[in-house]
Amino acid sequence: MIKDNIEQIRWRIDGLCAKVGRNPKEITLVAVTKNRPVEQIEEAIDAGITDIGENKVQEALLKFGLRSTVYGLRSSINFHMVGHLQTNKVKDAVRIFDLIHSVDSLHLAEEINKQAGKINKIQDVLLEIKTSPEATKFGILPEDVIEIFNSVGSGRDRSLHNIKVRGLMTIAPLVDEPEKARPYFRMLRELRDKLGRERSRPFPTLSILSMGMTDDFEVAIEEGATMVRIGRAIFE
Ligand SMILES: *Cc1c(COP(=O)(O)O)cnc(C)c1O
Repeated sequence: MIKDNIEQIRWRIDGLCAKVGRNPKEITLVAVTKNRPVEQIEEAIDAGITDIGENKVQEALLKFGLRSTVYGLRSSINFHMVGHLQTNKVKDAVRIFDLIHSVDSLHLAEEINKQAGKINKIQDVLLEIKTSPEATKFGILPEDVIEIFNSVGSGRDRSLHNIKVRGLMTIAPLVDEPEKARPYFRMLRELRDKLGRERSRPFPTLSILSMGMTDDFEVAIEEGATMVRIGRAIFE
């Protein structure tokens, strides 16, 4: 049952936070609803889910329509784009999603800035980092992130005015035990801290670390995740 699964996950998050001395309120549970029908998503929302993640713009459009016409779903829900985003889908993406987790190039950031500008929106985004060579095709290499971050900019001096970098996201490689994903999560946290230090003044908006999925979210939380993206543990 979806409701029981969500309770289980919250219980695990609470236990883990108690163990490592974190506040469970710091951690947003994003229910990843790709390939799941709207009825199941509504069931998850009835069980307290406030954040929904999809990995394809087309599927999100079919399921939810444009943000202003979301049907059956309460308007207090936050929509997350967690999958790779093609530039030709950006126009729809900025209309649907509150947070885009997958900015992996300056080119994509510029297109998001342009399309968000057209609807007078400041689009919150995360930079997707390729922390391991094998996990995904996409993502910014760790050695390139500072340059891209500085080009996208943020805060009052940002060069792209309709986009705001709120943090970093990564996908760990498939491993046979969760513990083996730890170095990738740790790398993401260290990168976030390094980016914060690069700035001449404190940089409060760079707070989100989106990392951890069904198989490895507990390790991710130990390493500082503030957002976990969970599909199978909720819907299977
Ligand atoms: C599918 C997906 C998830 C959820 O994965 P599960 O293993 O089902 O929890 C998280 N993040 C991204 C980017 C995904 O595509």
